[in-house]
Amino acid sequence: MIDLSGKAAIVTGGSRGIGRAIVARLATQGADVAFSYRGNEEAARETAAMVEARGRRAVAHRGDVTDPAAANALVAAALEAFGRVDILVNSAGITRDDLLMRMTDQAWQEVLQTNLSGAFYATRAVLRPMLRARRGRIVNISSVAGQAGNAGQANYSAAKAGLIGLTKATAREVATRGITCNAVAPGFVVTEMTRVLPESIQEGIRAATPMGRFGTAEEVADVVAFLCSDEAAYVTGQVVGVDGGLVMM
Ligand code: NAP
Repeated sequence: MIDLSGKAAIVTGGSRGIGRAIVARLATQGADVAFSYRGNEEAARETAAMVEARGRRAVAHRGDVTDPAAANALVAAALEAFGRVDILVNSAGITRDDLLMRMTDQAWQEVLQTNLSGAFYATRAVLRPMLRARRGRIVNISSVAGQAGNAGQANYSAAKAGLIGLTKATAREVATRGITCNAVAPGFVVTEMTRVLPESIQEGIRAATPMGRFGTAEEVADVVAFLCSDEAAYVTGQVVGVDGGLVMM
């Protein structure tokens, strides 16, 4: 199952963390992968090497997802290298946590621009080749914060909730063209994004998670790979939780 041989994928924010695990998993299943990153060249080189070690082609594309021109350039780079784009995973994301009363305009805008507008720009850029091919898989990495809200994360919760709306609207627009669009909502996954949280907050999340443990980036990537497969052809507009039971809707 999950044979992605001959397919070409784009993953935004694919150089580290969950994005990297998704890049590696798609390559393991047979896809060539172009991924974007913002600045960490060394991480990007390592991720590209992981793809090549699996016998697939990699394109590491430096570009900021908040820039619509960079989204167009990422899709153009994938098309030039692979001649096709079958899969888009919007994984690039940041947090700028603060209590609402103290949250700066900049912290609000940076998080909305990166997590939500970034996914919009990439989706818009990829739709033309997907519509022409009459096939495609789009997966947006949302969060339990977008489903349930999280104190100290008004910006992030709003962006991740917005991503769920974007997912459903996109799914409806392209459903008849062989293109699916789904969201994955991870719970707490240990990456550089979450490692900085105080131990007391991490413990609180662990205690609230029915499975009593954090998730891994690979567990998120497993679900993304399924949603990108032919087997998921009749799944669209859904939000799939990968959260150890933290949020049950
Ligand atoms: P991470 O370890 O901090 O990695 C973030 C990745 O996104 C890096 O590759 C980074 O590239 C890239 N990136 C950040 N801003 C970018 C921008 N403006 N343009 C292009 N690339 C950018 O984060 P993560 O924990 O893996 O999170 C990945 C996704 O999962 C995010 O959308 C996050 O919100 C979501 N998520 C995470 C968790 C969790 O518990 N970790 C839970 C739920 C949802 P550089 O290294 O070059 O900066």
